[in-house]
Amino acid sequence: MTVLVIAEHDHATVKPATLNTVTAGIACQSGDVHVLVAGANAAEAAAAAAKIAGVAKVIAADSPSLAENLAENVAAQVLAIAKNYSHILFPATANGKNVAPRVAAKLDVAQISDVTKVDSPDTFERPIYAGNAIAIVQSSDAIKVVTVRTTGFDPAAATGGSATVENAEGVADSGKSSFVGREVTKSERPELTAAKIIVSGGRALGSAEKFTEVMAPLADKLNAGLGASRAAVDAGYAPNDWQVGQTGKIVAPQLYIACGISGAIQHLAGMKDSKVIVAINKDEEAPIFSVADYGLVADLFTAVPELAKAL
Ligand SMILES: Cc1cc2nc3c(=O)[nH]c(=O)nc-3n(C[C@H](O)[C@H](O)[C@H](O)COP(=O)(O)OP(=O)(O)OC[C@H]3O[C@@H](n4cnc5c(N)ncnc54)[C@H](O)[C@@H]3O)c2cc1C
Repeated sequence: MTVLVIAEHDHATVKPATLNTVTAGIACQSGDVHVLVAGANAAEAAAAAAKIAGVAKVIAADSPSLAENLAENVAAQVLAIAKNYSHILFPATANGKNVAPRVAAKLDVAQISDVTKVDSPDTFERPIYAGNAIAIVQSSDAIKVVTVRTTGFDPAAATGGSATVENAEGVADSGKSSFVGREVTKSERPELTAAKIIVSGGRALGSAEKFTEVMAPLADKLNAGLGASRAAVDAGYAPNDWQVGQTGKIVAPQLYIACGISGAIQHLAGMKDSKVIVAINKDEEAPIFSVADYGLVADLFTAVPELAKAL
């Protein structure tokens, strides 16, 4: 049988999460990997998906109903072709998590969520208890609907593949939801889940002004994404979408610099898979040092500006 990966895209480009999900699809060892690009005027995204190494076929479903990524319509599009597949994989992003349960429910199968490793075509690993234990899940469902934690899989090469592109009929609008508007945060900085370097600040920063004053120059120097602990977000020092952790974003950059963050398990759950972790904290007993590759016991208000200046 064949594996279907649902592409995350903006109609023109394919988002990086798709590449990690393709790697998970290949690991399912269930035959060819196909990618569904469900969009409107999304030929460019379909062409980009066809270049991903390891993809045999791209199914391009184009319809005005798919212009705004409404979950009801995307789920209907997936269901229209679902029966041809043994596995249907979504990135475990906000979009993927919006669509996958609808598909699983309609197919009457159990969703396998947040997979970090594929052991065999029917056996998957996923973190539980904020990453403190790994559950091994075996599924006997005929179609496995899986969300993939992208930090668990290396990205497939974005170029080098030469998949065929097959056009599929786009579904009609479900009529169950309609697009009203979108307010998108505009930032010059890299998106947290795709950033190669993240600089993160905690409660120690003390105010929104200090957060910006101390953390932004370091992030600018490193062309890094800015992250925050939940305590910093709850206190209003940083916006919601910067939160890293169990109830925030799960990240695994090449370099994660935690400044004034204690290292509570809920924060570690979101960043401990980072390749290199640097911690700056004035308390040498802070739990963050237990996961840090490099630790600096120092006052961040001195150390961070010095670091930014030295770079
Ligand atoms: C269900 C649940 C979900 C949660 N989800 C998340 C989540 O997704 N993400 C998350 O981050 N948290 C989450 N939390 C909260 C988590 O338990 C911690 O409360 C939070 O991570 C603490 O944030 P912090 O490290 O910034 O603050 P604190 O724990 O207060 O730590 C501040 C640190 O700064 C250090 N410090 C103080 N001043 C300085 C200075 N001048 N220079 C250097 N260091 C200094 C201190 O030594 C201390 O280690 C969750 C909690 C629960 C119960």
